[in-house]
Amino acid sequence: QVKAKGRNGWSFYAPRMNDEVQERIVLERDLRLALARGEFVLHYQPQWDLTNDCLFGWEALVRWQHPQRGLVPPDKFIPIAEETGLIVPLGDWVLETACREIRDWEQEGLGSYRIAINLSARQFTQQALGERIEAILAATGLAPGRLELEITESVLMEDADLTAEILQRLKQLGVTIAIDDFGTGYSSLAYLKAFPVNKLKIDRSFVRDIVSDPNDAAIVSAIISMARSMGLVTIAEGVETEAQRDFLMAQGCQELQGYLFGRPMNASAVRSFFGGQDGPGGAVSGNAKQMP
Ligand code: C2E
Ligand code: MG
Ligand code: MG
Ligand code: MG
Repeated sequence: QVKAKGRNGWSFYAPRMNDEVQERIVLERDLRLALARGEFVLHYQPQWDLTNDCLFGWEALVRWQHPQRGLVPPDKFIPIAEETGLIVPLGDWVLETACREIRDWEQEGLGSYRIAINLSARQFTQQALGERIEAILAATGLAPGRLELEITESVLMEDADLTAEILQRLKQLGVTIAIDDFGTGYSSLAYLKAFPVNKLKIDRSFVRDIVSDPNDAAIVSAIISMARSMGLVTIAEGVETEAQRDFLMAQGCQELQGYLFGRPMNASAVRSFFGGQDGPGGAVSGNAKQMP
């Protein structure tokens, strides 16, 4: 009867499949309703600029506030949203909400920040993505220079011609394009020449052991120096310790993001993040905040 190796070792094939299929059907059904019910929320994680020593931006990270399951992380539902096509309306919601909130903070005097938003490959397969983003910028009144789009290497591989066309248009508009999880895709570096990319986001898996593992240190140094000679900005994700920060600074990495600077937090936590540490207005004067 033993047929498949489950996550926890050997298990019976049929019952396990049924459970997983069942679970998946329920999740998919709930996901379809979630948008209409307003169950998605955005959390924001600070991004630090080392060149000017200031907080310069936030990455928007979506969560699902499920009535029974609680706060569901994106890894649990983004893949399903991608397969079902729900990522398109969900992605639009993320774009609109994040652009609106970052503009609201500015109007409240919290400072002018850039917003980084993750895009899935599926969102690029619709011709209108460029127009859509332009419309959202126009509707929210956010300057294109304040928007950064994070795409993975796999996005570039999907439909290269269409993606290049959309990215070109967005870059001309002044939107920044960052390659997320850089170094983990199975693609060639040739795409860095073919696509209008501004920034490489060094994957967390290389940053984690950067201080103890000479191979990780070598990979990160190489990425930073390649980026510099190509005129690209580098940002490191998953920076948790001062030792990691110091190493990255010494290598010439320009921007950092990670728990050391702040965890992803909801919009009201962002407001107390400003209010609590500097007092109101503290962030207004040149986005000044103390580096950890
Ligand atoms: P990502 O874009 O690479 O985002 C970074 C992930 O690393 C986030 O996980 C963040 O919470 C986590 N992280 C940040 N700093 C640290 C750190 O110092 N240590 C550790 N251990 N982790 C850190 P999260 O929020 O669970 O998001 C997971 C992934 O889900 C994202 O990876 C992104 O690929 C995807 N995602 C999130 N929001 C969206 C969205 O709106 N649209 C799309 N298409 N994908 C999204
Ligand atoms: Mg990202
Ligand atoms: Mg990433
Ligand atoms: Mg990642």
